[in-house]
Amino acid sequence: CGIVGYAGSKQAAPILLDGLSRLEYRGYDSAGLCVFSEGELKLAKSKGRLAVLRTKTENGATLPGYLGIGHTRWATHGAPSDENAHPQLSTNGSICIVHNGIIENFLPLKEFLLKQGKTFRSETDTEVIANLLEYYYEQENDLMKAVRLTLGRIEGSYALGILCADRPDSMIAVKKDSPLIFGFGEGENFIASDVPAILPYTRSVVYLNDGDMVVFTKNAAQFYDANGTPVRKAPEHIEWEM
Ligand code: GLU
Repeated sequence: CGIVGYAGSKQAAPILLDGLSRLEYRGYDSAGLCVFSEGELKLAKSKGRLAVLRTKTENGATLPGYLGIGHTRWATHGAPSDENAHPQLSTNGSICIVHNGIIENFLPLKEFLLKQGKTFRSETDTEVIANLLEYYYEQENDLMKAVRLTLGRIEGSYALGILCADRPDSMIAVKKDSPLIFGFGEGENFIASDVPAILPYTRSVVYLNDGDMVVFTKNAAQFYDANGTPVRKAPEHIEWEM
């Protein structure tokens, strides 16, 4: 029920864990992280409180790296379990996703993807997004186009943080009917479900609209509107105290 993403020069995992702890008020039953560690997607996830994930990852030390995503889950499809916790990986491990929301048409999509030879490890609706993106990425060989095609086929609500094994320096985030913000830092950038997650790191924030997409590295961010047109977004300054 909460998402955090980080790209920068600091260790990502402790920042992601800290951000998730600031979203605890939203409620959750499991939590997980994925960090690019020496160019490889490295995951840790567990049912239960964030403390379980902290212990499992030695407060993030087992996932060294500078870019990653974190998630707290409020199960809608599939019981709370380690396997159903996010991040969710695609069949060949090339796509890694955190998702807040519900994919209404996940069953027909799952049937389609099973026919295409994709496999499923969880009972979540989210895993169809990872596999559908992998499918279109294989078809098109163009990640942005694959994301657009995937979004065109899923129905429901989503805030998504997306990592691709081929792009260890960047992250994609999109949203529709679930909250997502982007935070501009100095040589670091963030996404989060809500402002408190990133308030210790930056107060320069963009509230993403439905259909918006942002592709970012630690140094740059490109926003797109629902038509895929590149747009500029002026950050708002958050004044409030924590
Ligand atoms: N529908 C997804 C799941 O059950 C995401 C739930 C959430 O927003 O935390 O795994």
